[in-house]
Amino acid sequence: MNKIKNVFKKLGDKILDIVFPINNKCIFCNEEIVDFEITPYCENCEKEAFNNENKCVKCDTQIKQGNIICDSCQKHKRSFIKCYCPLNYQDDVRKSIIRFKDDNATYLAKSYAKLIFDYINKENINFDLITFVPSHKTKVKQRGYNPAQILAKELGLLYNKPVIETLAKVSITQAQKTLTFANRQENLKNSMVVINSKAIKNKTILIVDDIITTCATIDCCCNLLKTYTKNLYACAIARNHILKNDGNKDLIKKEIVEI
Ligand SMILES: [Zn+2]
Ligand SMILES: [Zn+2]
Repeated sequence: MNKIKNVFKKLGDKILDIVFPINNKCIFCNEEIVDFEITPYCENCEKEAFNNENKCVKCDTQIKQGNIICDSCQKHKRSFIKCYCPLNYQDDVRKSIIRFKDDNATYLAKSYAKLIFDYINKENINFDLITFVPSHKTKVKQRGYNPAQILAKELGLLYNKPVIETLAKVSITQAQKTLTFANRQENLKNSMVVINSKAIKNKTILIVDDIITTCATIDCCCNLLKTYTKNLYACAIARNHILKNDGNKDLIKKEIVEI
């Protein structure tokens, strides 16, 4: 029965692809492109989109040339070994992720997952299974999906690794965008619980989020999971860059308010 269902689903997806061709536009700026299967973005976006500058070895945020670790990672001990974010959260990437998160553009998950996959594979890391940052059921109902979960599912297919739900969001937290790191941590502390703890015991896990801003959410998830797991890696589509080491307080304020 499931096989028949899958055949119909695949057929349905194919028909939708023909009626609504999305696979010929840059995933960031929506410009028409020719080689979508090779690179799903245009040449212009390629120059700006990728997180290629000098980065913090822990959290992947951009830092001053010559520095190794950002101020925030020096101050807060991370529970993850490393966080991987292939894109810069700005301009067209930002607009694209907003379409993905809030405007039903779930088809982007496949391309985003491939970018994360290629980015992580530049380093030699191993993990046993994949999990994702949870979303409260009310939020999932409103949106129709949890963006981090569908990203994790696509990564699971690319890596051929199981995707397991390990955290549940049990209460809705206040919108995070105007809060400081300390306030976010306080806000998040009791909003999540670990589920399926047996499945993650002594395992190395890759946890997936959509964007990483101040690391508050991913830190909170990893702090909860680390009681059971052996090691944790984190990843997201994009990283914002608060450039704390440049001491640009206005920029820090602007970025936090914006997200
Ligand atoms: Zn583009
Ligand atoms: Zn850092």
